[in-house]
Amino acid sequence: ASARIVIVGGGVGGATAAKYLKLADPTLQVTVIEKNPVYIRPYGSSEVLNQHTTMQALEVSYDALRQKHGVAFVFDAARSLDPVAKTVTTAGGKVLAYDKLIVSPGIKLRYDSLPGYSEQVAETQVPSGWIAGAQTALLAKQLQSMRDGGTFVIAAPPNPYRCPPGPYERAALMTEWFSRHNPRAKVIIADPKDSFVTDETAMLGWNRLYGFQPPEEYRAKIKAELKPSTKPCMLEWVQAKAGGTPQRLDAKTMTLHTADGAIKADVINIIPAMVAGQVAFDFGLTNDSGFCPVHRTTFESTRHKDVHVIGDSSIADAMPKSGFSANTQAKWVARVITDQLAGRSSGTPVWENTCYALAGKNYGLFVADVFKIKEDGKIGRVNKARYLPFDATPAQIRLSAVYQQAWLQAFTQDIFA
Ligand code: FAD
Repeated sequence: ASARIVIVGGGVGGATAAKYLKLADPTLQVTVIEKNPVYIRPYGSSEVLNQHTTMQALEVSYDALRQKHGVAFVFDAARSLDPVAKTVTTAGGKVLAYDKLIVSPGIKLRYDSLPGYSEQVAETQVPSGWIAGAQTALLAKQLQSMRDGGTFVIAAPPNPYRCPPGPYERAALMTEWFSRHNPRAKVIIADPKDSFVTDETAMLGWNRLYGFQPPEEYRAKIKAELKPSTKPCMLEWVQAKAGGTPQRLDAKTMTLHTADGAIKADVINIIPAMVAGQVAFDFGLTNDSGFCPVHRTTFESTRHKDVHVIGDSSIADAMPKSGFSANTQAKWVARVITDQLAGRSSGTPVWENTCYALAGKNYGLFVADVFKIKEDGKIGRVNKARYLPFDATPAQIRLSAVYQQAWLQAFTQDIFA
């Protein structure tokens, strides 16, 4: 009989793995356990907030995977794992036996990591929207109807987190939107960190577009001319060292307390600390970090044999928690599994990642990397990370935004079509 591959989570990692396993060997029995019948893609979801796109446009159907590629779906939540009997049981009581299991459940938001915050507050009043869905829609509504001259605060998360440029892209897109629709508004990023991945090129973009003045330490690093300030910038980034670290939320008075003091806001978006998806804990796949240790060459769990963990839940060292990473990891694991089943070895893995981000609708930037396993046994960069060059021409900058939009479409097709 052909091998049974069960996949927990039909997001970027899980759906890519399912499709590429079937492409590699159509005789494999591939079953995805997914709790939602429609995927709401998180990547690109901040573009709902500034009306670049709609909630509906985030929805991705599983029809092509089922009908065209022959992937079976069980729409239910995976609950428990028996690594000896090699079965997964769902909340609905279904038991699925596997020869190989892939787990890609994304993240769990630690709503309890900020005093005063909770899932209930997030769902009704102070959304996070870092898992796309109803909270994204709530945040969009709040931002688009914010009072004239109101303040929007984003509490950025501590490392490691899903989509490293994401909170900053969100802030920039809303700054652009407000400058047209609510020009006296303020956008404040309260950050528990002093830097972020695309910080230099993003701040150059913010300077050009919004008159943002980077902190002193960045002025020498940004190798391009900065525009002087003419008026206070609508966008403010408060680093950890300036007291930006969020400490407590008072949802009643809509106040975010930071190390530096209280910020009274009209709309607050908290992106809390995060860990692996809950099911990774239920399956016994996590370690003290809250994420899942894997053998780097195969992404097989160090906890359970024949169980591979990919995407945001896995510990992949220098590889960021991005959709691009989850996709490239999934393709590698599909290959590892088909090779293992055929008794072949898979050779040496190389992975890649490109994170596109927007400083404004027509101002794109990016970070691109190739990764391999280094001498210390961990995943590291092959070369130095490549960013949008400081001397990029206006046409190249505009093109980067075009590429970002093209990537969103091509990427979704690669996974789900
Ligand atoms: P997910 O895609 O979240 O998939 C997890 C799936 O598992 C979900 O469908 C969930 O329903 C399911 N699941 C969870 N638990 C269970 C269970 N117990 N049983 C059954 N199913 C379960 N990445 C990029 O590369 N580029 C970008 O530009 C980009 N922009 C982003 C912007 C924002 C605002 C955000 C929030 C993220 C962005 N990302 C981006 C990150 C990207 O979306 C994630 O890194 C990626 O989705 C991770 O894939 P995954 O498979 O680990 O998790």
